Amino acid sequence: MNATKRTVLIVGGGIIGLTSAFRLARAGHGVTLVDPAVAQGATRAAAGMLAPSAEIAPGEESNYRLQRGALEAWKRLGDELAVVTGGHLDIHETGTLVVGWDASDRRLIEQFAGVAESFDAPFERVTRSTSPELFEGVSDRIHDGLVMADDAWLDPDQAVSMLRRALDELGVTIVSESVLRIDADASGVVGETANARLGASSGILATGSAALPLGALPTGEHTVRPVRGVTARVQGIDRSSLPVVRAFVRGRAFYMVSRPGGYCVLGATSDERSELAVEVGELQRLLRDALDIVPSLETASVLETRCGLRPASDDLRPFFEQLQPTGWAWSSGHYRHGVTLAPLAALDALTFVERSA
Ligand SMILES: Cc1cc2nc3c(=O)[nH]c(=O)nc-3n(C[C@H](O)[C@H](O)[C@H](O)COP(=O)(O)OP(=O)(O)OC[C@H]3O[C@@H](n4cnc5c(N)ncnc54)[C@H](O)[C@@H]3O)c2cc1C
Repeated sequence: MNATKRTVLIVGGGIIGLTSAFRLARAGHGVTLVDPAVAQGATRAAAGMLAPSAEIAPGEESNYRLQRGALEAWKRLGDELAVVTGGHLDIHETGTLVVGWDASDRRLIEQFAGVAESFDAPFERVTRSTSPELFEGVSDRIHDGLVMADDAWLDPDQAVSMLRRALDELGVTIVSESVLRIDADASGVVGETANARLGASSGILATGSAALPLGALPTGEHTVRPVRGVTARVQGIDRSSLPVVRAFVRGRAFYMVSRPGGYCVLGATSDERSELAVEVGELQRLLRDALDIVPSLETASVLETRCGLRPASDDLRPFFEQLQPTGWAWSSGHYRHGVTLAPLAALDALTFVERSA
C-alpha cells in the first residue's frame, strides 16, 4: 500500500484504462473508472498480438524498442492478475511466421527483413523443405519466410475479463456513463456525466481515439486520429502451437492468430476513417487474402466481424500528456500496439498519480 493514498478518476475503460485502473488500485489508490461501454472500443477488435518484431515498420525504431519491453511487462501483470483473481492469463509465445504471396509481396518481405536487420531485431529465414511444420495450413505456393521467434499473443477478451474481475476484487468503482466535461477545483479534479459530478485527486483520460470531453485543454503537442480496422473471427484450423501467420498479399497486410480449439482471428484492414459498419467489399478482400494464404480456411465457419478505431498520434507513438485543468493527464496514441503497450501505459499512470501527491 502506498503511503499517500490518492483517489483517481479514469475516463475510458479500454485496455489502457483497465490496466491503468488495475495498476493504481493494486498500489492502494482509490479508483473510479467511467465508461458507458467498457472494452467495446478498439480493444474489442484487437487480435492481441504482442509482436514487436512482426510489427516493425520503417521509421518506427523507437516504437519497436518500446514494445520489446512490453512482453515481460505483460508476464508480470499476468502474475499479479493471478494473485488477485486466482485465474491464469495465457500468454502464447509462439513467434510469428512472415510470408509473401507473389513476387512483389516477396520483395516487400525482403524490404521488411532489411528494416528488421537495421533495428537489430532477431529473425530467422525458414523454408518449407527444412521446416515443413511451420507451414502447416499455409498455401503450397509459399516456400519460404521469416520467423520472428520473440513475438507472442494473448486473447484480449480473456485479459479484459480478468482485469474486470481484478478491479472488482480491488474495490474499483465502475460508472457506466460518458464523461461530458472535465474540470478542477480546490479539492482536485472533477468529471461530469449526465447524472453525476465525480471528484478525485487526479484524473486520466484514456479515451482512445474519441474526442476529449469538454473542458480538456491539451498542450497541442499531440493529436489523435482514428485509424479504422476490421477483424473477422472464424472457427477454422488450430495452429495455436505454431507461429502466428502474417503475410503480404497483393501489397496488403494480413494475419491469422489461431487460438486453441480452432478459433482464428483474421485481420486486419486499415483506413483513416471512423465508420464502424463493416463493408461487404472490405470483408471480401480480407477473406480472399485469408484463403490465398491459408486455403484450409475454405470450410471454416464465420463467427463474427469486429471493427475498431486505432488511436493514432501524428508520429504514431503513444504519449502520456499532462493537460489542463491541472491534475488531468491524457494517455493515448497507442495505435496498432495498444494491447502490447498497455502495461507500460499503466506504469505511466502510476508515476503520474504518485508524483502529483
Ligand atoms: C482491428 C484491430 C486490430 C488490432 N490488433 C492489435 C494487436 O494485435 N495488438 C496490439 O497490441 N494492438 C492491436 N490493436 C490496437 C489496440 O486495439 C488499440 O491500440 C487499443 O485498444 C487502444 O486502447 P484504448 O484503451 O486507448 O482505446 P479503446 O479500446 O478504444 O478504449 C477507449 C474507451 O474510452 C471510452 N470513452 C471514450 N470517450 C469517453 C468519455 N467521454 N467518457 C467515458 N468513456 C469514454 C470508450 O467507450 C472506450 O471504451 C488493434 C486495433 C484494431 C482496430
